[in-house]
Amino acid sequence: MGRYTDSVCRQCRREGEKLFLKGDRCYSDKCAIEKKPYIPGVHGKARRAKATEYGIQLREKQKTKRIYGVLEKQFRNYFKKADSIQGITGENLLVLLERRLDNVVYRLGLASSRKEARQLVNHGHFTINGHKATIPSMLIRVGDIVQVKNKSLESNKFKEIREQATYKTPPEWMNVDLDNMAGHIIAYPLREQIDTLVNEQLIVELYSR
Ligand code: SF4
Repeated sequence: MGRYTDSVCRQCRREGEKLFLKGDRCYSDKCAIEKKPYIPGVHGKARRAKATEYGIQLREKQKTKRIYGVLEKQFRNYFKKADSIQGITGENLLVLLERRLDNVVYRLGLASSRKEARQLVNHGHFTINGHKATIPSMLIRVGDIVQVKNKSLESNKFKEIREQATYKTPPEWMNVDLDNMAGHIIAYPLREQIDTLVNEQLIVELYSR
């Protein structure tokens, strides 16, 4: 399976803004974009060229892909699906991305970043409705219960995660039961409940060219 090979912080510097890909570090003064606020590479410090309309749309799509950790082909498939269902295509796209299992684990506060959530899912630490779930791109449905496996609960890693999760507020579209390290999906998110700072309409315009 393909994946981003750029360093995580380099992706933020490429987009010229914080994408919050590294968990707690992103909120500290160790954040790379605070130290090097220019594009990576030898010409990085040169002024950014004035972006064209196409360039702005393209950057918005790239930014969204990086935030959710999705590669081009899969992202385009999400777009096709978003376009085929009723409603506003851009909003449908974001809702589909939010429904990914790795995102849900992150939103529940059971991982410090989507990247970490992806690793934890890949390593088999989660179940959906009692069944082992190891595919980060699985789409959760309303009514699903995402839970840390009993065996994993005893590990130091999850003890630490539980401690940190107590300080996080999950979105309104899920209920969290921290005692059992479980989350119940009670609805799909509304656009205003998704705090990802992207303009999804620009992506729709890009793919409609
Ligand atoms: Fe981006 Fe976080 Fe790295 Fe800062 S620390 S550059 S926000 S991934």
